[in-house]
Amino acid sequence: MKTSELRQRFLQYFERQGHRRVASSAVIGPADDPTVMWTNSGMIQFKDVFLGKENRDYSRATTSQKCLRAGGKHNDLDQVGFTARHHTFFEMLGNFSFGDYFKADAIRFAWEFLTGPVDQGCLGLDPSRLWVTVFEGADGVPADIEAEDMWKAAGVPADRIMRFGKKDNFWQMGDTGPCGPCSELHFDRGAHIPGDATPNGEGDRVMEIWNLVFMQYERDAKGVLAPLPKPSIDTGMGLERTASILQGVDTNYEIDLFEPIFEAIWKAAKVRPEDRREHANRTASQVIADHIRAATFMCYDGVVPSNEGRGYVLRKIVRRALRFGRKLGIEGLFFADLAPAVFQAMGDQYPELLAEMGRIQKSLHREEQQFSHTLSAGLKILEASDVSSGTLSGSDIFRLYDTYGFPVDLVEDWCRERSIAADLAGFQQELNAQRSRARAAMKAHDLRLAGDLAVLADLPPTRFTGYDHLESQAHVV
Ligand code: ATP
Ligand code: MG
Ligand code: MG
Ligand code: MG
Repeated sequence: MKTSELRQRFLQYFERQGHRRVASSAVIGPADDPTVMWTNSGMIQFKDVFLGKENRDYSRATTSQKCLRAGGKHNDLDQVGFTARHHTFFEMLGNFSFGDYFKADAIRFAWEFLTGPVDQGCLGLDPSRLWVTVFEGADGVPADIEAEDMWKAAGVPADRIMRFGKKDNFWQMGDTGPCGPCSELHFDRGAHIPGDATPNGEGDRVMEIWNLVFMQYERDAKGVLAPLPKPSIDTGMGLERTASILQGVDTNYEIDLFEPIFEAIWKAAKVRPEDRREHANRTASQVIADHIRAATFMCYDGVVPSNEGRGYVLRKIVRRALRFGRKLGIEGLFFADLAPAVFQAMGDQYPELLAEMGRIQKSLHREEQQFSHTLSAGLKILEASDVSSGTLSGSDIFRLYDTYGFPVDLVEDWCRERSIAADLAGFQQELNAQRSRARAAMKAHDLRLAGDLAVLADLPPTRFTGYDHLESQAHVV
């Protein structure tokens, strides 16, 4: 079953159950809510409806929501390319009840949609490969025995239901407000996939596909929970994950939706047809395929690469993609040229991308060009550095990083390829010293940095200090 068919089936199934089909909102969070950097789940566009601050003319909705988990509350950036199931950009299929139906129906719908007959608009998954998780109780909130009994009534054997704690099976909107237990569905991809044989363990073998949140309490400022008079439902199912199951492939990246994107990457990297399958399973190709989707939709929503906030996340994503491009041996500019493949892959659902393609590509191209200079300049300096001792010194690494914005992990790669040691401890020392100097200066000059950074945002060469393991040190040092 093609990914686009799965999307339609989901929306149609819930339309038949009286849900209003609502369009996806933007990947950037709502303009009036500064706490949300990115839309990271389907419920974001309905937040005020759940809070009772806004009324709609429907009480059941279904969506396929564009989501980003690349900073803010959820950040899956470092997982991308290293697990079979995490993207920065993905679509979340959801059904929502605003004080209308509750737990029993949500459970019944989910089980029927997943395991019901294909010729009746369901997915026909093998029930013996599914697992269900429920909340085990914590902090005075009881275990969700109710949900457990409902799953059993739906036909799930008791030994396929497992209880978990707050981390996986309790949801809250914030420190106060609506909250409640959740129940998740997981699928066993089979013993050939490395990983635990039960939910929420290690590896990709048993994969979480659908989260059903039962909003049934409200937490007050003292932390006390009271039952909500009209409990609500918020669910989220990963489109790409579920498509991978239906298509019998072992990673999200092997689904049909990614094909045009990989085609474009292979063309850019001049990968021979016989090497392609292997290539699709490589971290570098997967990161690029993921990042071009994220970058395209971020640009569509008006995000521009910069050193702050959303623009900084976009900048990081573009640069990360370019770095992995070099790993594939792509020397020239290529990233912006991949954007039309995103339209090819997803234009049926998001036709509006086409009219903006020129603008999107221009913005990506500009960023790519700028960073490409940094990469080339940094590589030249590296080639000229004195490594006769067999080690690249910490101060050399620091200079590259600090003055040219050259990523440290590229330095590491460069050294590894030449069997040279990289003095990362020395680099760290220099970095710490610089940070204490900066901290002292900050105290003296107060916090006027944000403004300065905005001005610096477009001045090449950019001092870019936010890569991967260095991320926690932030770009404002
Ligand atoms: P995981 O434990 O696998 O990281 P999660 O618990 O963070 O997933 P939820 O917040 O419950 O995910 O989101 C609901 C659903 O969205 C998940 O069950 C999954 O199918 C999908 N999903 C979540 N994160 C991602 C991602 N990074 N890439 C693709 N799909 C995702
Ligand atoms: Mg997660
Ligand atoms: Mg989870
Ligand atoms: Mg979850």
